[in-house]
Amino acid sequence: MKKISLNSQILLGSLAGILLGIMFSMLDKESSTSQIGLYIAELLGMLFVDLLKMVMVPLVFTSIAVGVANLRAHQQMHRVWITTLVFFISTATIAIILGLTAANIFHPGEGLQLPMFQDAMENFQAKQMSLPEFFTQFLHSLFLNPVAALAQGNILAVVIFALIMGIALVIGGERFHNIHSVLQELLELVLMLVGWIMRLAPLCIMALLIKLVVTQDVSLLMILIKFIGLVIGTILLHGLVVLPLILYLVTSMTPIKFWQGAREALITAFATSSSSATLPITLRCAEQNLFVKRDIAGFVLPLGATMNMDGTALYEAAAALFVANLVGIDLNLIQQMIVFLTAMLAAIGAPGIPSAGMVTMLLVLQSVGLPVEAIAILLPIDRLLDAFRTSINVEGDMVGSLVVQDWAKNEQYDNSNNQLEK
Ligand code: ASP
Repeated sequence: MKKISLNSQILLGSLAGILLGIMFSMLDKESSTSQIGLYIAELLGMLFVDLLKMVMVPLVFTSIAVGVANLRAHQQMHRVWITTLVFFISTATIAIILGLTAANIFHPGEGLQLPMFQDAMENFQAKQMSLPEFFTQFLHSLFLNPVAALAQGNILAVVIFALIMGIALVIGGERFHNIHSVLQELLELVLMLVGWIMRLAPLCIMALLIKLVVTQDVSLLMILIKFIGLVIGTILLHGLVVLPLILYLVTSMTPIKFWQGAREALITAFATSSSSATLPITLRCAEQNLFVKRDIAGFVLPLGATMNMDGTALYEAAAALFVANLVGIDLNLIQQMIVFLTAMLAAIGAPGIPSAGMVTMLLVLQSVGLPVEAIAILLPIDRLLDAFRTSINVEGDMVGSLVVQDWAKNEQYDNSNNQLEK
């Protein structure tokens, strides 16, 4: 009863946030009501994201280490690994193909006023990175001193260290029994904190959405409406049709049941634009509402939050073609295949933080010789598009955990330790 009510509160909070945001944008920006209102909204939103980030690193570390240790103990690791990677790569492939196809059909950006684009280019200094540079930097960021990685909140490096620790825990067996139990208890403790933070979610998500609506530059939105519509439409196609269809075909779970269970995480992803910050809630929804076993969720979801980004992949492909149209270049098939590959790499390499896709976008543009300065035109509309792609990124992770759970089904599997304490 209580759980359902929190769920509805979050939905109401989001609707109120959008309405209040529209109201605030119509008020005089200098008036004290609007300034105080916006200040409070900003403060609440910031605190909520900070709280989520506070629990994120210990949660990622413990859930992966414990998840790997338990999966290995159940002889399941091999299957889970393979099915997770197969799922991540195939859904990202579908997403990129959707993005490229939509952009090829509708040609966003064609005939747009170039002067405005040139203005934007003049004021923007892009950091350029070549493909080998990007790849080297990506590899270099995988293995870090774990204390530094934990302290800096470098999720990818934390994931890698936790994976290695989990494997060592299994190989060491009984010898490390105490550490295994401590990590397990730590995980449960952090999940309890997540439960407390969630009680603030309705109010804080309202605050985040007010800010999202108020800070959006409406005039630019109108100029780029065709591109924005295309990106949002295609992302929704992936999120409302493709992913639910895969889920239904593999697990027979209906979309309605899935969305009811996933709603809190999807709304939080929309409001925070960060898959990593949403991770505590994603884990909670997957385990409590969708009944994904803790060991599977604890492995697939943190890995997905950093590597599986369908929304980002789709966006990067569509945006590359948009920029090509803006500058009047026609990308041929080979060039589009390069866009395909770099968009995949860029989505895997992008951390789950706001606008991360914008940084890796440079790589995609550069790989086919498009002007990287063009992201100056994409940046002002990025907050809105980021909200949509982050929700789909998180949806992809959750669908992934359900699909992997089904594929990896194993009769020997002992599901006794998976009920989440409230
Ligand atoms: N904000 C996205 C995420 O956290 C990444 C992106 O910029 O596309 O999932």
